[in-house]
Amino acid sequence: MKKKSLIIIGSGPAGLSAAIYAARANLMPLLFEGYQSGGQLMITSEVENFPGFKDGILGPELMAAFRAQAERFGTEYITADVTKVELSGSNKIIWEENNKYETNCVIIATGATANLLGLKRERALMGRGVSACATCDGFFFKDKTVAVVGGGDSAMEESIFLTRFAKKVHLIHRRDAFRASKIMVSRAEKNPKIEFVLDSIVDDILGENLVSGIRLKNTKTNKLFELKLDGVFMAIGHTPNTDLFKGQINMDKKGYIISSNDKSRLTATNLSGVFACGDVQDSRYRQAITAAGSGCMAAMDAERYLENILLDQTGLSK
Ligand code: NAP
Repeated sequence: MKKKSLIIIGSGPAGLSAAIYAARANLMPLLFEGYQSGGQLMITSEVENFPGFKDGILGPELMAAFRAQAERFGTEYITADVTKVELSGSNKIIWEENNKYETNCVIIATGATANLLGLKRERALMGRGVSACATCDGFFFKDKTVAVVGGGDSAMEESIFLTRFAKKVHLIHRRDAFRASKIMVSRAEKNPKIEFVLDSIVDDILGENLVSGIRLKNTKTNKLFELKLDGVFMAIGHTPNTDLFKGQINMDKKGYIISSNDKSRLTATNLSGVFACGDVQDSRYRQAITAAGSGCMAAMDAERYLENILLDQTGLSK
């Protein structure tokens, strides 16, 4: 069994930013990066809104740079998924299969996963016309026709945002009533570039290497029909990656970890010595830059927590 002062779980912008800060503070963090490292940026196309890259950068390239920077200061990586955790005591235990690790402090940065429809072509066409992030990819659809799938606030917001670029936005919703707030629906309805396609589900995404259209099915008549377009944006919600922590840590009803439990440490969870950052505790902003910022905060909170333990042990805190 290995004992580390800090373990970070997750290797997206939040986890790796936490690692850069923690490693530079000499905490020598151990980071579980998972079998699929890098988080959601690994499936986006070019990232054009991350400060510092005026010509944009590919998502995987950006994450490789984050990773190398954290490694440079002494972060140790384990390329595997954590399979079990015990977070309640002062000595926290993390398992990767039968390998057991002990630590005083854990930063959870396991992110969230955009919900997809589960269609056969959807994953293959991700970054080739299929996207789950209008803020990230909208710019690539200048004067094109796109669709947004969903009936919540995100679908309304993303449709409105996309009208800055696209010449037409089809908003596809499976019902004729909306989960979105009335004001957001009304804004979308008033936008001349947005056309609502209600009571309809996406039956298939068309196109070989690039999206060329979608086939829809009207849920009331079962009639199939096609729309020619260049992009489809999924806005059907996200699922936080928190299964591992269920029953141990406070979460909201959608499974997002509740942070801000301590006014002086905004990334603190309800468990002492456990901090959370990035999309796993943020259903609203969900940007690489906000995740990276909260990763920095979590590392600083963890550092102070570990410092206090040390002071307590030496009796100097009194
Ligand atoms: P959401 O409110 O859960 O809405 C998801 C939408 O996707 C629903 O309309 C749902 O349809 C639809 N959907 C789910 N699974 C589907 C499937 N398999 N096929 C077709 N449609 C499917 O998620 P969200 O819009 O991402 O919002 C998440 C939270 O963030 C909400 O609390 C929201 O208010 C908040 N938010 C706020 C703002 C803002 O205030 N500016 C902006 C964005 C998000 P049904 O309605 O039929 O279930």
